[in-house]
Amino acid sequence: MATSAYRGRFAPSPTGPLHLGSLCAALASFLDARAACGEWLLRIEDIDPPREQPGASERIVASLHAHALRWDGDIVFQSRRHAAYAEVVARLLASGHAFHCNCSRKDLHQNRGRHRAACTHPATPPPGASAVRLRAAATRYRFDDLILGSVTLPIPAGDDDFVIRRRDGLYAYQLAVVVDDAWQGITHVVRGRDLLDSTPHQVLLHELLGAPPRFAHLPLLVNAAGDKLSKQNHAPAIDDTQASANLLFCLRALGQPVPPREQHHDCEALLRWAIAHWDRARVPHVDLGVP
Ligand SMILES: [Zn+2]
Repeated sequence: MATSAYRGRFAPSPTGPLHLGSLCAALASFLDARAACGEWLLRIEDIDPPREQPGASERIVASLHAHALRWDGDIVFQSRRHAAYAEVVARLLASGHAFHCNCSRKDLHQNRGRHRAACTHPATPPPGASAVRLRAAATRYRFDDLILGSVTLPIPAGDDDFVIRRRDGLYAYQLAVVVDDAWQGITHVVRGRDLLDSTPHQVLLHELLGAPPRFAHLPLLVNAAGDKLSKQNHAPAIDDTQASANLLFCLRALGQPVPPREQHHDCEALLRWAIAHWDRARVPHVDLGVP
């Protein structure tokens, strides 16, 4: 039962099963929420069907169960949230915060990120399919990260007026994640540092929809070549039969103490101990190599 205003979430894309890197992100967001007596929600970000892997959502849910990472309430699937995204896009277009765009990547590169007048000041709605972009309000953005401290990031030219609905009609990750975080009342986003570059865009969008959450960006697990463990570079799926060993690995990677040996084989006991000893200040700032 939640007793604080803290509300966190884990929001995996079903592009493959969880690997150790995504399990660490799930565990950190879980511990940060539970240590604050907060809620922890699960949202499946199935917004981009061509990138998804059949059965991945079910495998992710089964892995979270196997590791005793229990969420509050029902799972939210972004594939069922299109009406909400459409409503926000229409609202942003009507208020002038967003515009239709038919520029190609090449056009934008040649024009140093500037849009043709046909995009920014259209006389008539553009014919056919067009992307929708948010009108950028800044070229750099500063925010206070709960792990990294003060972060200032440039928003690169060409990426400043960023896409919120793609030309093919699919909603952009940036839009869906912000609409859902706002709708679900998420107060804290604890996630991998691979998403740090998305944060300025998301904060800009959050400011139009309500108050932004606090962000905490975790170090990434990297392989011997220095590449992030990811589905793209074929990081192995976690073995659900080794759940407590996986949790111990992630606790160590997150700079946290580990419980006494007698609690090593029981995920529930291990997590209870880890919640009581969670210290966000111990999370390393540098990416971590895995053997
Ligand atoms: Zn344009």
